[in-house]
Amino acid sequence: MADSIIIIGGGVSGLTLALSLHELGISCRVFESAAAIKRLGVGINLLPHAMRELTQLGLQAKLGAHAVETREMSYYNRFGQFIFTEPRGRFAGYEWPQFSIHRGDFHQVLVDAVRERLGADAITMDHRCTGVEQDDTGVTAHFVDTAGRSLASVRGAAVLGCDGIHSAIRRQLYPDEGPPSYQGINMWRGVSRWKPFLSGATMVQAGWLDVGKMVIYPISAPDDEGLQVINWVAEIQSPRHVMQDWMLAGNIDDFYPTYADWHFPWLDVAGLIRAHEVLLEYPMVDRDPLPQWTFGRVTLVADAAHPMYPRGANGAGQGILDARALARCMQAAPDPAAALKAYEAERLPAANSVVLKSRTAPPDLILQVVHERSGDRPFERLDDLVSQEELAAITDGYKRVAGFDRASLNAKS
Ligand SMILES: Cc1cc2nc3c(=O)[nH]c(=O)nc-3n(C[C@H](O)[C@H](O)[C@H](O)COP(=O)(O)OP(=O)(O)OC[C@H]3O[C@@H](n4cnc5c(N)ncnc54)[C@H](O)[C@@H]3O)c2cc1C
Repeated sequence: MADSIIIIGGGVSGLTLALSLHELGISCRVFESAAAIKRLGVGINLLPHAMRELTQLGLQAKLGAHAVETREMSYYNRFGQFIFTEPRGRFAGYEWPQFSIHRGDFHQVLVDAVRERLGADAITMDHRCTGVEQDDTGVTAHFVDTAGRSLASVRGAAVLGCDGIHSAIRRQLYPDEGPPSYQGINMWRGVSRWKPFLSGATMVQAGWLDVGKMVIYPISAPDDEGLQVINWVAEIQSPRHVMQDWMLAGNIDDFYPTYADWHFPWLDVAGLIRAHEVLLEYPMVDRDPLPQWTFGRVTLVADAAHPMYPRGANGAGQGILDARALARCMQAAPDPAAALKAYEAERLPAANSVVLKSRTAPPDLILQVVHERSGDRPFERLDDLVSQEELAAITDGYKRVAGFDRASLNAKS
């Protein structure tokens, strides 16, 4: 077992990494701090570049059984006026779909695949990593359980830190960094059962952060009553924020007044919010890009390495790209330290660019442009404010930086 690779964290990136290493014949084990697998969070979007990797891992059909195949992304102002739309995934000519899925379903598909392929004991639960020590021959990871009791340390050839935005591995490597930074946008996320709107598979972004923004998309097929599970997130510029916990319960009174008059002909947003079955609150946070992820036989992956604003639906996608690249590098270079450096050279510049782009020019910049040029009033003619070409250039620019512009991605098939 000492030659085995130790993966810290059994979230999106850790499990994708385990599947990818296993596929290449590299032995690994996953250590997860949670005592049991829980259905965390609400919806998530898997963009075509992430779906390409998950398809190569043989997971497209399993994910598709739970997901809505997103047809289009459409933008509206806070008065419900149409601004811009573009087809998504296969509807836009990609070879891979874009899926909108419950995060819990996505995670369960990964967990099941890891247990089926690597063995029932491949994920060791209730093991929170507290630190690592390395020498020339390997790395030792130290653990405690949920009660804080010390557990046996584990030795491996390398430690891959997939332990998320509050990574203990990152904290050890960068002890003076402090918590993730809050820049003033708070989020309330919910799911409601509601009638299909627009195409029934449309992802909507509406409003703007200063006056209230919404992201809304369905994550299930209609049920027997014709209702879909609709995921929504309210994003508001606000000094209020409570530090990140995936399951912090939200209070509707804290944000509903902003949306109380959002009754669009195509969707009663206020009604959708009031119908919430789940309501969570968390701040939008990221971290400044790091200059280095790999230190000898230890490296950082996904949110541990590059947490980003979720304004491009790309954090998990970038983590999946990390996991795939890291597995390939570990296969190509027999020396773990060299493999981890090669991974860093490939992924660090790309992922850091997405972090910065998500701050300065994510796709929802489209909404900001119209909000500012219209003076936050209903417009008579959109063309007087902005052309469709200018708006398309915003989303195309983001796709290029995030690695999913159609031409280059399809060329990889
Ligand atoms: C509101 C919001 C919406 C988002 N929407 C999207 C989207 O639509 N599309 C998208 O691609 N991304 C989205 N993201 C980003 C995405 O959720 C993250 O980027 C992704 O989950 C990161 O994966 P990860 O494996 O790094 O971390 P996680 O999925 O958070 O997993 C980390 C795991 O490590 C475990 N862990 C933590 N500490 C330790 C420890 N010390 N020892 C052992 N285990 C530990 C945790 O329990 C957890 O299981 C969104 C994020 C937010 C906040």
